Amino acid sequence: MKLTERGEFQIIEHLKKQSRTIPELICGIGDDCSVARIDDNQELLTTTDLLTEGVHFDLDWSDLHRLGRKAVSVNVSDLAAMGAQPRFLLLSLAIPDNLNVDQLDQFLSGFLQASDVYGAVLAGGDTCRSRGGLTISVSAQGVATKATSIMRNGAEAGDDLFVTGTLGDSALALRHLMAGEKPDPFLLGRHLDPTARLEAGRALAEGGIPTAMIDISDGLLADLEHVLNASGVGAVVDLAAMPLSSAFQRELVSNKDLLDLALSGGEDYELLFTAPPDRQKAISGIADKVGVPITRIGCIDEKRAALRLQGPSGAVELPQQRGYKHFPDTP
Ligand code: ADP
Ligand code: MG
Repeated sequence: MKLTERGEFQIIEHLKKQSRTIPELICGIGDDCSVARIDDNQELLTTTDLLTEGVHFDLDWSDLHRLGRKAVSVNVSDLAAMGAQPRFLLLSLAIPDNLNVDQLDQFLSGFLQASDVYGAVLAGGDTCRSRGGLTISVSAQGVATKATSIMRNGAEAGDDLFVTGTLGDSALALRHLMAGEKPDPFLLGRHLDPTARLEAGRALAEGGIPTAMIDISDGLLADLEHVLNASGVGAVVDLAAMPLSSAFQRELVSNKDLLDLALSGGEDYELLFTAPPDRQKAISGIADKVGVPITRIGCIDEKRAALRLQGPSGAVELPQQRGYKHFPDTP
């Protein structure tokens, strides 16, 4: 069987089964970052993301400056999801023959600009020639004080479910691009140049608020499913509460099916977290302080790994589709 006929998560599970761990590794394969103990007070968090031409980006749609920024933001987003402060970035490039020095400099200007914004520095990497398209691999390391790293496995029945920002903007822009249409500039910006919710993630973690947190890269439902599986709980998502931007809502009016993009589209890079209901006031305070809306979109119950959607009429149903898939799953 070809490897790509397996689902992405089956492949990861296959790798995980054969790997081993050591006591200093507090969290290995299976969360947004690995977490390693530095000393009694500090933890080192590490994450990596791959961007491949033709799979993750198309140079006809994105300029290299914005691509450089995105390569940083998608990694910082994973650190934000665990409440860590980014410190070091590693950049590895497989460069095709047709890329010139100007283009590399445009990429680097975006990369370094975003690194500065998030408080991280480029500390190394690797460079080689590509016989295919451009491939960008970025790894990011960050630090958190002990007990502030938030994992995916702590959600509890009775918790509320929250999300930062708005959902579906990036997926809607991508849909337009793929159809050869020009997306609304706000939506396009959300797709080509997402912002990692670092301030929100850190403030939430430092306030000891989330019981579980993840960043939404594969789509709300797919990433929520990771939290439910890791925590052994279920969730009901209230469709009427889904936070949607005005640009998204304008298009939703004439095409109700677009709501699926907000549920399953991917590349939102918003934070999804659970918290006890009595933390609502503290959460609103953080949303005001960091200037990013945080919306309650549902609740957690004890129905193990069961994900249900509640429509405006109050009826509850199972979702049809869960998220972006790199490889089709086998039955
Ligand atoms: P995220 O969307 O948060 O970046 P992924 O879905 O890419 O996370 O990965 C899920 C988990 O599997 C993460 O803990 C990641 O480190 C791990 N993982 C993914 N690919 C590999 C691999 N090739 N080898 C080891 N671990 C992997
Ligand atoms: Mg993640």
